[in-house]
Amino acid sequence: MIKIENIHKSFGSNEVLKGISADFEPGKVSLIIGGSGSGKSTLLKCMVGLHEPNEGKVFFDEEDFTSMDFEHRIPIRKDIGMLFQNSALFDSMTVEENIIFTLDMFTDMSMSEKRDRANFCLDRVNLKNTNRLYPSELSGGMKKRVGIARAISMSPKYLFCDEPNSGLDPATSILIDELIKELTDEYKCTTVVVTHDMNSVMGIGDYVLFLYGGEKYWEGANKEILQSEAEALNDFVFASPLMQAAKEIEKKNRRNSQSD
Ligand code: ADP
Ligand code: MG
Repeated sequence: MIKIENIHKSFGSNEVLKGISADFEPGKVSLIIGGSGSGKSTLLKCMVGLHEPNEGKVFFDEEDFTSMDFEHRIPIRKDIGMLFQNSALFDSMTVEENIIFTLDMFTDMSMSEKRDRANFCLDRVNLKNTNRLYPSELSGGMKKRVGIARAISMSPKYLFCDEPNSGLDPATSILIDELIKELTDEYKCTTVVVTHDMNSVMGIGDYVLFLYGGEKYWEGANKEILQSEAEALNDFVFASPLMQAAKEIEKKNRRNSQSD
């Protein structure tokens, strides 16, 4: 369980987050959604300690991460798996070396243990036998999967993904979403995904937090979005013609069930 309380973050005079509070539960995929520049990545970075909030607190299973110093944060950092927006692989390292890099940082495993672990994680994301390839030899979807393999290499309790679908075709996006969902079930981890992709929202959003104007404008389950009357949320969601169609069907069904 991750709890955030009253998170404020400004860059100079740009007040990006104006007091965000939310609970993210284990075994669920929670989404942070919002328009471009609404502060989604900033919030994620505040949660993992890549940014320090100006005010507010982040708790990992009751532990107050915000007030810990670097040393005390290490055990929690070990439990965090992170998939960055551009996959953030090291181009000069092979796939295997990219994964072993994390294990080197956080464990004292032997080389053969690290290789075994890397193989296990690569197998888990369906990338067997890619160990010796370099990132430049991989497709966008494969890079994301290597990023995910690296993120799960330490069996994370908390999994963070920033725009896991950016740059992917729709079919590959769905595969990545399904993988994130499966891993969340498997590890019972608390998963927080930043996205602006409505397909992901409807597919995997057990809990959705919508950021607007620096505030938590709306929260709820993805299924509730279709019934929401919140204006800014509707403007965001129903900019997509497919989502408009889904809403019309939902309305019709409701009318029919009322007249039954
Ligand atoms: P999103 O991920 O929702 O697209 P971001 O969190 O990246 O939005 O950015 C929110 C706002 O914060 C933007 O106005 C952006 O310019 C600003 N911002 C983000 N990171 C920094 C930074 N390191 N320094 C200054 N401004 C930043
Ligand atoms: Mg972003």
